[in-house]
Amino acid sequence: MHQVKIIGSTKTYPVGKIIGLGRNYLEHIRELGNKVPERAVIFCKPASSLLHEGGAIKIPEYSNDCHHELELALLVGKPGKNIREESALAHLSGYAVALDLTLRDLQSELKSKGLPWEVAKGFDTSCPLSDFTAADRVSDPNNLELCLKVNGEIRQQGNTAQMMRSVEEIIAEISTFYTLEAGDIILTGTPAGVSRIISGDQLEGTIEGVGSLQVSVA
Ligand code: MG
Repeated sequence: MHQVKIIGSTKTYPVGKIIGLGRNYLEHIRELGNKVPERAVIFCKPASSLLHEGGAIKIPEYSNDCHHELELALLVGKPGKNIREESALAHLSGYAVALDLTLRDLQSELKSKGLPWEVAKGFDTSCPLSDFTAADRVSDPNNLELCLKVNGEIRQQGNTAQMMRSVEEIIAEISTFYTLEAGDIILTGTPAGVSRIISGDQLEGTIEGVGSLQVSVA
């Protein structure tokens, strides 16, 4: 079973659900030509998709177009259902840097057929994740600079202030569908700038005040 930890703490969390949020930054919706959703676009990645700091991404041979998506990750520490926005942050134990890797060619094919596209998001190593920084060390999760470099070149740059749904709104909305449990991880969507990664690429994601994540492509 996959475990995650909080920096400076001996406590570990067995990973439960990994819930991704799609289309949460307007510029990213525009770059993919998608519509602005009325309801949050929610999908799950299996815990087997996790890749820890320093690991190597393995792009499946059935895809030729794997995209990086840099995202702020939330770690649920306190369970809840129908959580109110006012108390949402109290359910979090930590924040981390994550990549929501996406097989864009497979996703587009499945989308065009009206089929679920989760398999384009859930392959092994599709969720690189840094260790978590304790939630009480992050004063405002809705105002954090994000930056992703590939081979030293900036590909994605944004701020969580650009999210269409705040961290509190995301937790409240997801918890109307799913009970959130300790060890669940939420990926909050990606800013603009997604693009293809290929074998040999070195990726470095940073989120101000949260941490950094370095992985390579096998
Ligand atoms: Mg994403």
